[in-house]
Amino acid sequence: MQIMSERTINHPGNKAQIDAQWARVRARLRQEVGELAYRSWLKPLTLGELRDNRLRLVVPTRFMRDWINGHYAERLHALWASENAAIAAVEVCIQPAIPLRKPDAPEEAAQDQPAAQPSATEARKLAPVLRNGADILDDDISAPLDPRFTFKNFVVGKPNELAYAAAQRVADSAAVPFNPLYLYGGVGLGKTHLMHAIAHAIRERDPSRKVIYLSAEKFMYKFIRALRYQNTVAFKEQFRSVDVLMIDDVQFIAGKDATQEEFFHTFNALVDQNRQIVISADKSPSDLDGLEERMRSRLGWGLVADIHATTYELRLGILESKVESAKCSVPPKVLEFLAHKITSNVRELEGALNRVVAHATLVGREVTLETVQEVLQDLLRANDRRITIEEIQLRVAQHFNIKVSEMHSPRRARAVARPRQVAMYLAKQLTSRSLPEIGRKFGNRDHTTVMHAVRKIEELRSTDSSMSEDIELLRRMLQS
Ligand code: ADP
Ligand code: MG
Repeated sequence: MQIMSERTINHPGNKAQIDAQWARVRARLRQEVGELAYRSWLKPLTLGELRDNRLRLVVPTRFMRDWINGHYAERLHALWASENAAIAAVEVCIQPAIPLRKPDAPEEAAQDQPAAQPSATEARKLAPVLRNGADILDDDISAPLDPRFTFKNFVVGKPNELAYAAAQRVADSAAVPFNPLYLYGGVGLGKTHLMHAIAHAIRERDPSRKVIYLSAEKFMYKFIRALRYQNTVAFKEQFRSVDVLMIDDVQFIAGKDATQEEFFHTFNALVDQNRQIVISADKSPSDLDGLEERMRSRLGWGLVADIHATTYELRLGILESKVESAKCSVPPKVLEFLAHKITSNVRELEGALNRVVAHATLVGREVTLETVQEVLQDLLRANDRRITIEEIQLRVAQHFNIKVSEMHSPRRARAVARPRQVAMYLAKQLTSRSLPEIGRKFGNRDHTTVMHAVRKIEELRSTDSSMSEDIELLRRMLQS
């Protein structure tokens, strides 16, 4: 809603200019905070007036205003200042709304129309139709499901077979097989796909079962809104009456204490009633930072299934299945090339295939290896630069003339322990893996072992010149 008028914006810059500046500020914010946060918090912002060098931005609710002020005020100000030097202050304010009956927000209802306080029963009736962000009792709290994310469309391979089997078990069992099912793995490896597949399968088999799928961020958003409107009882009831609750990307609520607390209670209530819970995260429960200990242990109670990085075979399988379902023709050589080159994750792999196919359709020519290399130049370069721990282990083992298997072995003889430490050190330096992740790749060692290795090698680099040369050489080899 645009409530800016020509009259209020005559200085400095006309309305069209300010609109353009606002569009750029929004685009930058969107990039900075990510799509989800942008949609939840920043998209509802609208331009208000600009007067006396103060720019007003308008939001629908007090809660959103406080949230934006608490989280994005500085960025908003900085971005606006860089767009329009005349703006000295940015103010976020609540829409001067047409008075709404907000039974669950007494402080506002009281200000607006003290006589309109409805009774508690009336409040319950009113709640579902509240507008302006107060609709926390919307019937369907579940996020929409992607119709393509089914079990049928999921290609199973070594890296994801456990997660897949566990997801199927959850979908097929009348009883709760394990609680929670905790799926974890890096981005774009199929966590969301599997969760949607579970929801599809259960809804199809038994539409009477209430299945709710939502992101942890959405959970938090709804919870905070409930707090804001003092509607937490309804909020709790809503979540606690489900048969299957799936929360995606739970790492998001790490460090958000109140939300975590509420989630913990919801979680316990559901487990006590023997309802199924499915969780996904980017890390295992023990590696999730900012999580309370009781939460962490509770999350690990059921089945924890790790989705590993893709293998060449899985990538090829996925490409073949996508080509088949899209009914387009791509030569096997090209698929092999893509499977070989795009190793980061399935999302990128899909994206690459889509680009190749779109290009071929547009120019009306057949896909060849040459066109692929041309079309995917940027992607291929990015994937080339990524160094894996396996590669590091291999190069280091070759360099020190030991077997690669020694990287995982428990042997502690200096002749193998030192190269292993070098490999751990390089893994820390050259990849974005965390210490626990690195430890796991070295025969399930503890993260403190990795930390020790990193320190040790750092120390040796400054005292032992041949060691420092070895490391430089390895680094150059790996990065070339
Ligand atoms: P995550 O939630 O782990 O980040 P997604 O579930 O969103 O990843 O998966 C990213 C994309 O890759 C989706 O389009 C999904 O359909 C696809 N994908 C991932 N794994 C597979 C698989 N094993 N088979 C088919 N498609 C997959
Ligand atoms: Mg996901």
